[in-house]
Amino acid sequence: MATIFTHAFVGSSLSTCNKDKKLRLRLAWVLATLSILPDLDVISFRLGIAYSDPLGHRGLSHSIVFAVVLALIASLLFRPKKKILSKAWFKLYTLCFIALISHGLLDALTNGGLGVGFFIPFDNSRYFLPWQPLEVSPISIQNFLSPWGLEVILNEALWIWLPVIIFLIVLKLIRLSKKQAT
Ligand SMILES: [Zn+2]
Repeated sequence: MATIFTHAFVGSSLSTCNKDKKLRLRLAWVLATLSILPDLDVISFRLGIAYSDPLGHRGLSHSIVFAVVLALIASLLFRPKKKILSKAWFKLYTLCFIALISHGLLDALTNGGLGVGFFIPFDNSRYFLPWQPLEVSPISIQNFLSPWGLEVILNEALWIWLPVIIFLIVLKLIRLSKKQAT
């Protein structure tokens, strides 16, 4: 897996796509939570479920089906007054879905563990993306507080945090220039 910090950073960054400034902070928390949620499946190790099992780590909870269903639940809970299938609801749903699926995509960029079960329950195969620049994060806290953990954080800062920060700056500049033009 990628680290919880990077998953949450990517998820919360998505909130900037929402035009409603008042909603952004609350939405950032929701999207950050959704983006780390799939890794609750690490409990499967304690339950004796094999890593490669569809219910194992990086299995069903990292799948597209899970993202589709959970995004629906999250979007209904977050804005219960938004009419389902309205434009505003659909935008919210899309952000929730992207936050959830970003988790699997980041994991598929790592260089360790088993791949991600994107297509479970239809196909139990595990997948990586063709390019895997991210160092896999240790699962145990003990290993995380070691040179390995530091190496992972620096690696993610380079490949994920930096491009996302650049994207956010560019987005801000585009919005500012549009504001000045009107
Ligand atoms: Zn994961």
